[in-house]
Amino acid sequence: MINIVLFGPPGAGKGTQAEFLKVKFNLFHISTGDVFRFNIKNNTSLGLMAKSFIDKGDLVPDQVTIDMLNEVVRKNLDSNGFIFDGFPRTNNQALALDKLMEENNSTISAMIALEVDDKALIARLLERGKTSGRVDDSNEEIIQNRISEYYKKTAILKDFYMKKNRYFGVDGQGSIEHITNRLSSVIESL
Ligand code: ADP
Repeated sequence: MINIVLFGPPGAGKGTQAEFLKVKFNLFHISTGDVFRFNIKNNTSLGLMAKSFIDKGDLVPDQVTIDMLNEVVRKNLDSNGFIFDGFPRTNNQALALDKLMEENNSTISAMIALEVDDKALIARLLERGKTSGRVDDSNEEIIQNRISEYYKKTAILKDFYMKKNRYFGVDGQGSIEHITNRLSSVIESL
C-alpha cells in the first residue's frame, strides 16, 4: 500500500491535488472535511455536532474525527492505498493514524506538504467562498481562525513525520499542473 498524508494549511490546495493524484496512483481519497460536509448536508447527528465547530473555523474534537476516519479506512482496506486530506490535524490524530495503519500491517509512506504563504491562502479562500457556499469560507475572521488553528495545533505534525524521515515539502504556488507534477515526483520516488 502507498499511504500519503497530503498536508498544508487551509486553502493550500490539498483537495484539488488529491483529485488528480487519486486517479494517477489509484488511491482512495479521504477528505475529513468532505465527510463532515456530507454529514451536515444529510442532517446526521455527526453532521449536526461537527457543524458547530466547522462554521466557526474551529477543529472538530479529536475522538469524533478519529472514530469517523477509522470507519472510512476500515471500509476501504481493499484499496491500493489512501490519500489522507485534512487528517491528521493534531498530535492525537497522528498517533491514532499510526495505530490504525499498524493494525492493518501498513504504514504512512509520506507526508507531503503544500507550502503556500498566508496572504495567498486568505485570497484563495475568500475567492472560493464566492461560490463554495461554505460558511467557513465566507469571512476573513473565520478564515484567520482556521489558519490560526493550523499553526497552533497542526503545523507541529511536520516534526512528527520529519523524525520518521517521511516529510516532504513541495512548493504549493504555481499552476495546478505544475504542482501535481511536483507531488507526483515525490510519490514516484517512494
Ligand atoms: P480546509 O483545509 O480548507 O480548512 P477542510 O475541508 O479540510 O478544509 O476542513 C474544513 C473544516 O472541517 C475544518 O476547519 C475543521 O473544522 C473540520 N475538520 C476537517 N478535518 C478535521 C480534522 N482532521 N480534525 C478536526 N477537524 C477537522
